[in-house]
Amino acid sequence: MSTEQLTLINSEDVSLYVNGEWVKANDKSQFEVYNPSTKELVAKVPRAGADETRVAIEGAAGAFKTWSKFTAEKRASYMLRLRDLMLEHTEELARIMSMEMGKAYTEAKGEVTYAAGFLTWYAEEGRRIYGETIPASAENKRLFVIKQPIGVVAAITPWNFPLAMMTRKLGPAMAAGCTGVVKPASQTPLTALAFAKLAEMADIPKGVINIVAGSTKAISDEIFGNKIVRKISFTGSTDVGKDLVVQSANQLKKLSLELGGHAPYIVFADADLQKAVKGVVASKFRNAGQTCVCANRIYVHKDVKEEFANLFVEEVKKLNVGNSLDETVDVGPLVNESGLEKVLEHVEDAVGKGATLLVGGEKYTEENGYFYQPTVLDNVTDEMKIMKEETFGPVAPITVFESDEEVIEAANDTDYGLASYIYTKDIARAIHVAESLDFGIIGLNDALPGVAQAPFGGMKESGYGREGGHQGIRDYLEEKYISLEL
Ligand code: NAP
Repeated sequence: MSTEQLTLINSEDVSLYVNGEWVKANDKSQFEVYNPSTKELVAKVPRAGADETRVAIEGAAGAFKTWSKFTAEKRASYMLRLRDLMLEHTEELARIMSMEMGKAYTEAKGEVTYAAGFLTWYAEEGRRIYGETIPASAENKRLFVIKQPIGVVAAITPWNFPLAMMTRKLGPAMAAGCTGVVKPASQTPLTALAFAKLAEMADIPKGVINIVAGSTKAISDEIFGNKIVRKISFTGSTDVGKDLVVQSANQLKKLSLELGGHAPYIVFADADLQKAVKGVVASKFRNAGQTCVCANRIYVHKDVKEEFANLFVEEVKKLNVGNSLDETVDVGPLVNESGLEKVLEHVEDAVGKGATLLVGGEKYTEENGYFYQPTVLDNVTDEMKIMKEETFGPVAPITVFESDEEVIEAANDTDYGLASYIYTKDIARAIHVAESLDFGIIGLNDALPGVAQAPFGGMKESGYGREGGHQGIRDYLEEKYISLEL
């Protein structure tokens, strides 16, 4: 076990949170969570299956009866209390995240603020779930549309933003009056359970939030097979998302999918190069390159490529790699062995096909974990895997372009459509390119566009539905039309 002291959860004796109780798996089985910085065991966690998930779903259904009837103000007061507790426990939440999935500690503290922002935004947005009145075509009729919570929801979340992906789903769900079950990634159950502890401290009624981790398939099958669950929000890989679409068909469950991305980052000749470089470092190396929105294909106009590449390499050399708990570290480890292997494979494939290494290109071996050096590759071509598949690692591939139309076509030549970035000072060009790119999110001279008050989501195989903004609450509501004859 790790020697780190955790007060929110007892890493020596971890329990799941089901219907307001801290419980073990029925069969007493457990799974292990390792620290990717050190490969040391962090905790053993009860391995839930279908039965524990069913109890959680039934607990959420029980809680729905009262939670959905509370006023928006009352729900907001609980949510804001939870938000305040999260912020008060920022350092511990960050430490837990850092230990279980390797996010650099300082960055993990930023995730707590970002995650808390969804509770603030939706606590307020819950008060604005307006209905409609419709002019009738008969004098003795009155027509209304009311909005009601959809019911019990399930959230299946990834390891790369273990806290924010929960609040991005539970925030709108709770504000709408829904109750839910969260299945966190097997790599990051502890962040989810620490969040549940804070929910308990905030006196959120039992059953409103439930956390079950363990046997992924058994939990997921119960979620998709149980008629109580009316909506599922999934964030994760496109392959799993496609399977879930098929599973959701059986009961026509409402599903929203936040899936993978392959973001183009386009730097025009008239761009502010300093700003473009600062942006690409933030976008590419955040979370060691393990974000769905991070720059995956860097297109630089041929007239400024040399200058951009030189500035970029200079900045990358300044990045501090190491144990994610060290406050001075910018880039932590990859999440696990297979994450590291994918990075090695992409770099080997690119270099084998003619890419030039400008910096990095090897494992970082001064620590025992799954580290890779921040890497910049030049002369990258479309035949290389890195230009087609998510690398999910700290590797930045650069390629050149000559015309606007050429780069728009290249940027859109992907099955993904999540985020894209444009750097230019020309307003007309900026608008033309932004309107031409098939991506749900455009960062215009902005490498970090994600905020609680704006809709986040993708096109094409990056999924459907939006989270964040006033749009993010829609999926948790049913519209009911009422026709009244006087
Ligand atoms: P993943 O393997 O798809 O896992 C995501 C979640 O789904 C985890 O809780 C996982 O549980 C669960 N899961 C895995 N297989 C499942 C199955 N067959 N049925 C039901 N649930 C299943 O993805 P990941 O590797 O954790 O996350 C990285 C991916 O998420 C990347 O593609 C990234 O781009 C994407 N992502 C997208 C967004 C967005 O907003 N669009 C945000 C963050 C990440 P286990 O951990 O137990 O396997």
